[in-house]
Amino acid sequence: MKVLVLNSGSSSIKYQFFDTEKNLVLAKGLVERIGMSSAILTHAPIGKEKIKIVGEILDHSIAIEYVIAVLLSKNHGVIKEKSEIDAVGHRVVHGGETFSGSVLITSEVMQALKDNIELAPLHNPPNIKGIEAVTRHLPGTPQVGVFDTAFHSQMPPEAYLYGIPFELYKKYKIRRYGFHGTSHLFVSNRAAKLMGKPLEELKIVTAHLGNGCSIAAVKGGHSIDTSMGFTPLEGLLMGTRGGDMDPSLILYVMGKEGLSLSEANTLLNKHSGLLGISGESSDMREIEAAVNEGNKKAKYAFDVFTYRIKKYIGSYIAAMGGVDALVFTGGIGENSEVVRAAVCENMEYLGLKLDENVNKSRPDGEVLISEGNSNVKIYKIPTNEELVIALDTEKIVSEQVLQSVK
Ligand code: AMP
Repeated sequence: MKVLVLNSGSSSIKYQFFDTEKNLVLAKGLVERIGMSSAILTHAPIGKEKIKIVGEILDHSIAIEYVIAVLLSKNHGVIKEKSEIDAVGHRVVHGGETFSGSVLITSEVMQALKDNIELAPLHNPPNIKGIEAVTRHLPGTPQVGVFDTAFHSQMPPEAYLYGIPFELYKKYKIRRYGFHGTSHLFVSNRAAKLMGKPLEELKIVTAHLGNGCSIAAVKGGHSIDTSMGFTPLEGLLMGTRGGDMDPSLILYVMGKEGLSLSEANTLLNKHSGLLGISGESSDMREIEAAVNEGNKKAKYAFDVFTYRIKKYIGSYIAAMGGVDALVFTGGIGENSEVVRAAVCENMEYLGLKLDENVNKSRPDGEVLISEGNSNVKIYKIPTNEELVIALDTEKIVSEQVLQSVK
């Protein structure tokens, strides 16, 4: 099946076009600066030259029109007819309590997605726009929504309830949802494969460390706890998000600095985290470079970042009653040997022994980076959320076809 996977953000759309039977990515690309006269489309087709187009792309509908056009283009395309796109899979950030797995998009599902906008006001509206644009340009093509929250939907109440009046949970659905679910699902499955053991028998801590960071306790193939919460703001320190903090500090700062709700929101989402502490950058490569030059605030940022991960690993080992593997993924988890080494330092007593030489050698791909005698296996595994979306889409659309034949 040929599946177009879309990740629609507020001003960008990332895409990958899969041939699931041949296990191939036929093309991938990115539309950036949607809404501007100088939007950019970068398109990389398999076996052909990569291209960059700059032009006016004022909304998501036009962006999707461009994506379809480049997939069909004579010189840079990979298909001849629109009808060769068998299905479209969308990353949808928030499924709320409504969706515990991927779904075929129907008018009822669209209504439920719209009802969930309040829970993810920044993320769900562009996801919905992406679906509407595909409905317009590829009418009749089945579409599937794959939710960031779904993998965490079986967390027990003690992990998802906050210590606030229960009525607020009931009334406004204020609870932990967790995000990056497709990534935690993918890397925990890969770790089980690499260990040659059934996922159902394993206890795995998965650390997705990118611009956004979250960590999950995956027991028996289910996420039983994760660090992101009601929104993707809670938990680990991130590029520009501060993660865990005393909630009253924000009320205090709002009073002292006279901040509006929207300014406070910007402070928490855009000006905190690595950037906030270091005053330098939200990018881990730049933080590491600044630390090497002796920058003190960059070192604080680095230390808060790694210390927080270490604390979560300890708490998730306690929550699961043990651990078989620790997985690092995401831009930082996959590429920063310094972060991995700092997180794993002095964890031998818990059975985690990092092989410093393998870790330092910056190996490519999926690699075991623990010592041979480490009780707990440590891996770095490149995540592939798009593949999860493509395979889920294929599965759901195939089931639909089977049902219609019956
Ligand atoms: P992502 O959101 O998964 O694309 O990850 C982005 C983050 O990965 C940024 O903070 C980058 O600085 C970080 N990153 C990418 N490559 C490296 C590297 N070689 N060393 C350290 N951090 C890296």
